[in-house]
This record gives sequence, C-alpha cells and structure tokens, in this order.
Amino acid sequence: MTGEFDLIDRIRARVVARDDVRLGIGDDAAVLAVPDGLQLVVAMDTLNAGVHFPETTAPADIGWKALAVNLSDVAAMGAVPAWCTLSLSMPDADASWVEAFLDGFDALARAHGVALVGGDTTRGPLSICVTVHGVVAPGRALRRAAACAGDDIWISGTIGDAAGALRQWRDGGAIDAVLRARFDRPSPRLALGDALVGIAHAAIDVSDGLLADLGHIARASGLAAEIELDEVPASAALRAAFDADVRHLLQASGGDDYELCFTAPPSVADAVRDAARVSATPVARIGRMHAGTGVSVLLAGAPWAPSASGWDHFAAGA
Ligand code: ADP
Ligand code: MG
Repeated sequence: MTGEFDLIDRIRARVVARDDVRLGIGDDAAVLAVPDGLQLVVAMDTLNAGVHFPETTAPADIGWKALAVNLSDVAAMGAVPAWCTLSLSMPDADASWVEAFLDGFDALARAHGVALVGGDTTRGPLSICVTVHGVVAPGRALRRAAACAGDDIWISGTIGDAAGALRQWRDGGAIDAVLRARFDRPSPRLALGDALVGIAHAAIDVSDGLLADLGHIARASGLAAEIELDEVPASAALRAAFDADVRHLLQASGGDDYELCFTAPPSVADAVRDAARVSATPVARIGRMHAGTGVSVLLAGAPWAPSASGWDHFAAGA
C-alpha cells in the first residue's frame, strides 16, 4: 500500500518524452504545443472491471487495452495520436498493480510515441478512463457520415478473433493463445488510418461487432451496406476453433477486434491497396454501399441468417 502521490510519481517516471509537451504531469494541468495548421482530434473510453474486461485480466493487459481502444478511435479518424490522459480509480493504492498496469500501457504508448501528460488518481471500484489527443490535417478526418453510394466496403486484418476468445472463456474450456492475444492486446490500426486519409471516405473501428459498426456508417451516411460474409477474413486460429456456423456469427456480431472498417470508391481500390502495403496492414474488400438503409449480409451470394444451432452456441452463457 502506498499513497496517491507515490503512485503519480511512479506514473510520471515512465512517460514518453515529447518536445511539444511544454508542461506534463505535476502541475494543475498540462500545456501542449499544438502544431500550427492542424486540427485536434480527441477520444475518450472507459474500461470498468467486470464489464469491459474479466476481473481476472492481468494488469499489464488492462493497461495495454485501456490505451489501445482509445488509439483505435484515433486511428478510425485518420489522425496521428500525440498525448493522452489517464484517470485511474482503484479500490486501494496498490503500487505493484500500478507498475504492472504501466508495463502494458507504456509498451503501447512508446510504440506510438504518445506522451501521458496528466490524469487523476482516486479510490473506488477498479475503472480506467483514458483520453487520447491527436492531430489531423483540417477537414481530412475520416468521418462515419462520409460514405457514398457505390463505395466499396473494406476491412483490415481478421475479424472474429476477440469474440472467439470470449466465447471460449465463457464456455469454460481452454482459450486459444492467438485468439486470446487478440482479445487482451488489440493492435490499433494507426498506420493504416493515417495512410487512408485522402483515399477513404468513411471509417470506423470495429469495437461492437462488424454489423453493428458498419451499421453506424450506413446510418450516419444515409445509405445501406451489403457485405458478403465469405469475404470477411478469418484467422487460421478462428477457423480451427469453431465450425463455420459459429464462426460466421462471431465474425458478424462479435466485437473487440479493433480493426478498421472503411469505405472508398472503386476507382481508388489500388490506392487503398498501396495504403495497406505502406502500413503493412492486410485489407480485404467485403461489400458495397448503396441507396437505402440497413446492413444486409450475403453468404455465397444468398441472404444470410444465423442458423439456429450456431446461434444457440453463440448465445449460450452470453
Ligand atoms: P489536482 O488536485 O490539481 O487535480 P492531482 O493531485 O490530482 O492534482 O494531480 C497532480 C498531477 O498529477 C497533475 O498534473 C495530474 O495531471 C497528474 N496525475 C494524477 N493522476 C494521474 C494519473 N493517473 N496519470 C497521469 N497523471 C496523473
Ligand atoms: Mg486531481
């Protein structure tokens, strides 16, 4: 056990240094030099124990994920992250827990050059709230409302892995290590988001599930979306762990993958592939935006509806 100020000192000892942080942790507020001519992009997400992560999650994974989900939002805007703040609510001031939490938080912050510039430390149920600030060229942010009729729908990486891990965890059996890593340590697609600026129209990160999140793009853009489920990439680990019925449900409805779903006109498909190459991020074309409303799903060209057995398995214990 230790005091609030000892914890803040431990946090301060590990932050990433940036020239544009004129005043970081230690005063009443941070002072940041925002680059001339850029717009500030701000995102905030909270993780509550037992709600957003199982109580048994390793503190380092909680630290990683608390920052990752916020960086993912910044990536989905096509912005470059620069600074973050951290509000930490803990039942007691546990220095070893905070050090382990920082191991994960810091690894990701360092990988993307993001400086922790302030926060708050309080006593209460375990809850972590992070705010990330980034920058983007004026008017260039990738908005949900910017899809156009005729746009291709693209997805990065593989979909369904995190939901597969959660499914296995709820089933009480062994959890595949690859799927588990996708759930515990999502990789925010920052390089891809940045590379898609000026190419993609709309973008969102897949946190709630592909259909739900694509639905946000469709609704915000006043359009319909149609996807072919067979085109949605699945990892070898997911294919090995689940039969096709359950896999399709996990891919359509499962969340927490933090991949980017974005739209772009077919005329720039080559530029999308170049952006994928420069950012070393695989992408796949999975559908098309058109006039109308809602998200429709095809499987091998026919309208898809979850099979009863797949749904039973998917929903069991959920
Ligand atoms: P105040 O009473 O002015 O809110 P605090 O004692 O809460 O000051 O915080 C002191 C300094 O430590 C501030 O610069 C604040 O931003 C920073 N800080 C507090 N908690 C955290 C945290 N969890 N992560 C990063 N910085 C923190
Ligand atoms: Mg405070």
